Amino acid sequence: MSRPMGDSHKRFLQTMMSNGIISSVQAKALHRHCCETHGAHFSPDRLEEFIDVINTHLQPMFMHIRKGMSEEDGAQHYALVNMAETDITRMSSDYADNELELFRKTMDLILDSESGTASSTDLLNCADRLQTKKMKKKETEHVLNKFVQDKWLHEKQGEYTLSTRCIIEMEQYIRTVYQDLIRLCHVCHNIVLQGQICENPECGIKMHYYCVARYFKGRIDPHCPSCSDFWAHEIPGLISRPPKANREAEL
Ligand SMILES: [Zn+2]
Ligand SMILES: [Zn+2]
Repeated sequence: MSRPMGDSHKRFLQTMMSNGIISSVQAKALHRHCCETHGAHFSPDRLEEFIDVINTHLQPMFMHIRKGMSEEDGAQHYALVNMAETDITRMSSDYADNELELFRKTMDLILDSESGTASSTDLLNCADRLQTKKMKKKETEHVLNKFVQDKWLHEKQGEYTLSTRCIIEMEQYIRTVYQDLIRLCHVCHNIVLQGQICENPECGIKMHYYCVARYFKGRIDPHCPSCSDFWAHEIPGLISRPPKANREAEL
């Protein structure tokens, strides 16, 4: 019935397994690399089909390669997702109970904030009040580092947010557990943590920074797409990416 996985598919999957998540630029380069290495037919516009073949074979193992956007730059990414466990129990083989409790608390803080971030100070305070087992400052910093290295959290100047991988993997969990807190971007309708909020209190729509940048590009007098009030925020510029050659060498 389904097409068998060739060596090119297997190599692609192996790279996905060791990386967890790759950008679509990396995925395109990897697709080409895998096909060329194993003498398989390569056509650049067939990446989705190529991934579909892998996904068919991953299904019995409750795994899936899923597409999603990065909140940082709006770039498309592919993440290898565990479908069997829908909540953060998926992380339980890698983390101790108090580490998981800290992660849960981190998610609570991030989802409950307007900025979509949690500060390291707030997280250190949380760690000091854990029910499973309290953590000291050094230990907390170490665990937070591990969350960043394992691509569950993203850190910038002491502010933590959920990583692209985390949002793609746990989207269903986030939508269920935080249904009263989550905001959907007015432009792309995906979950938005980091973005700009309309200052009209009766409107208050939220948009990703990159959606704001794209939506208002070239408009001198920006108005809210929902309530038409003046958009009082500074419009972020579109993020420029490094030249293609550099990006393909990333993996
Ligand atoms: Zn958006
Ligand atoms: Zn508005």
